[in-house]
Amino acid sequence: MNSEAVVAKKKFGQNFLKDGSVLNKIIEAMPKNDNKIVEIGPGLGDLTKFLVNVKSVEAFEVDTDLCELLHKKFAKEIATKQLHINCGDVLEAWKSELVDEPYDLVANLPYYIATNIILKALADPKCQNLLVMVQLEVAQKFCANNGDRVFGSLGVITQSVGEAEIVVIVPPTAFDPQPKVDSAVMLIKKHSSRTDSGFETLLRVAFSQPRKTAIKNLSSSYNKALLAEIFDSLDLEHNLRPHQISTTDYHQLYTKLKTGSLDGRGKPKYD
Ligand code: SAM
Repeated sequence: MNSEAVVAKKKFGQNFLKDGSVLNKIIEAMPKNDNKIVEIGPGLGDLTKFLVNVKSVEAFEVDTDLCELLHKKFAKEIATKQLHINCGDVLEAWKSELVDEPYDLVANLPYYIATNIILKALADPKCQNLLVMVQLEVAQKFCANNGDRVFGSLGVITQSVGEAEIVVIVPPTAFDPQPKVDSAVMLIKKHSSRTDSGFETLLRVAFSQPRKTAIKNLSSSYNKALLAEIFDSLDLEHNLRPHQISTTDYHQLYTKLKTGSLDGRGKPKYD
């Protein structure tokens, strides 16, 4: 089978990037280091072709038809070990680390599992940077700052482990077939990795009802009087909505709740 004969499979989120100027922008924005590249979903290999020119690439592709095509197309790069293709579901292959050396994730991600993949990469200690194409709305959540309407737990988690920015917004016309929504390439430079599940439980509770105040949401799971004391000690108004609290304040709130748990009051009621 050649690239022209391929019919895109919706169930695998196949929207192939055809715009050469966007491919160039991705290559230009790649972090300059010696890390390996991990590409999830090489598809027809349009981005892979650029990546193997600059770095060695470990690719994960779920579609067996595309795996076959890629093996033919990149026979030389596979023989020289510049490219290795893992055929199968990346989420099944991903334990705590996806590969056993430092890597940057560079990919036009399948949108139906993009958030899950990014969260796994943020938790993977071997992943140092992410340069990924996702739905614009998803990129905006990961890149949001406190005060932004879309600032939520994804923004707090990202700011806890690094810095995120949108590199370029990409219209549907850049793809074949065209998705229904705008996309964006975003860059996340990590300085650490997610580890604390207790902190993420707190975020889930704090953002459970975004229009309500953060303290009201939190008091469904944590001691009300202790929360009021902590909010006062951090100079946080009790009427703040969850998106109006900064990442630093969420961490301080969590630390103080954990300390409070020594006297039994900071323990989540339902954990
Ligand atoms: N990189 C190509 C491009 O830019 O044109 C294709 C991108 S397309 C949006 C997403 C790719 O991810 C498809 O090739 C699809 O088959 C693959 N994919 C979908 N689910 C996957 C999974 N669970 N594991 C690995 N690859 C997956």
